[in-house]
Amino acid sequence: MEYRQLGRTKEKVSVIGMGCWGLGLSRDTGEWTQEVASLHRGIELGMNLIDTAERYSSGRSEELVGEAVKDCRDDVFIATKVAPPNLRYDAVIRACKDSIKRLGVPHIDLYQIHWPDPTVPIKETMSAMEKLVQDGLVKYIGVSNFSVSETDAARAALAKNEIASNQVEYALSNRSVETDILPYCVREKITLIAYSPLAHGHIARFIPTDILQKYDVTPAQAMLNWVTRKEQVVAIPKAGNIKHQEENASSIAVRFSTADYEKMSSG
Ligand code: NAP
Repeated sequence: MEYRQLGRTKEKVSVIGMGCWGLGLSRDTGEWTQEVASLHRGIELGMNLIDTAERYSSGRSEELVGEAVKDCRDDVFIATKVAPPNLRYDAVIRACKDSIKRLGVPHIDLYQIHWPDPTVPIKETMSAMEKLVQDGLVKYIGVSNFSVSETDAARAALAKNEIASNQVEYALSNRSVETDILPYCVREKITLIAYSPLAHGHIARFIPTDILQKYDVTPAQAMLNWVTRKEQVVAIPKAGNIKHQEENASSIAVRFSTADYEKMSSG
């Protein structure tokens, strides 16, 4: 596994992490066992970045992540999110403590604002985020689905901390962040966490066969390799089964040539 610095921090996160949307959604406890086993396998393979949210499966996703990491807390980097309507000062503090309880950990590594809410002053949300850092409940602050101007406003609202990351949708089949958010993140040393990097499982069928053969990769692996070709990007595919997790973990074993990345981009 390859690791990259998170924002301007000294923290190293795996270039391929594990998204946890949909974990615990099923009522079938057998499926939960499989999801936890899949996370265990990913951790074994060096995927230390785990992304969840208070919203996912009404908190069950965080509980399953907690179950998966209970014997290896120090080996993983846990990112979760506070969602609107919890962006008022007191609500942020309460939501964070609830997430910590569900995760069963002493602190959250990266606490992200899931979506911006223009009805709540960003200064108020960020004051709460800084209080959580000060109290040791959160290590780093991130945002998600923030535009460039919203990220600027979030940064300006922080007194002592920096925005470490912006989590946005980015895949070979959805490249809208390349116009402004990606260049901004590269310039400002903010990690871009690419969500839905496998286009929600709609794996691209248009990747040139010669590239797949040359690097001996599957289409899903080629998509993850491509999306993380820039130093400032890490990706968080969701894999509910071990076979997919293993495939994703080995997707960047070999880097493609610039010409081949360009060929994929223009395909
Ligand atoms: P995704 O990662 O693009 O795709 C997940 C789908 O791809 C699942 O159906 C999965 O199947 C399948 N898959 C995984 N590995 C595969 C492989 N090697 N080959 C073939 N299929 C494979 O979609 P996503 O879940 O929307 O996004 C990933 C994560 O991003 C989420 O879990 C969440 O953490 C985050 N996210 C954040 C936001 C936000 O607003 N911040 C929004 C959406 C998502 P199996 O499960 O059966 O393995």
